[in-house]
Amino acid sequence: MKTKQKTLPPLKAIRKHCLECVGDCREDVRRCTGTDCPLWPYRFGTNPNRKTMSAEEKAKRSRSLNRPRKPK
Ligand code: SF4
Repeated sequence: MKTKQKTLPPLKAIRKHCLECVGDCREDVRRCTGTDCPLWPYRFGTNPNRKTMSAEEKAKRSRSLNRPRKPK
């Protein structure tokens, strides 16, 4: 019988993997010296290449999402 395995979003899975790699110590993940490891840039569970939205852009997108849709 198959048991349903809980899936994590990729960045959360990487974070979990890194914590397991260093023995569940967040400080050791921060201090990891394995810069040749392909997961190293993502070890905090975030994507460093992702742009952050400015407050102006957030407000613009919020207005856009709250605008009522036109009926088809
Ligand atoms: S970046 Fe690589 S070496 Fe460093 S903690 Fe994560 S898995 Fe381990």
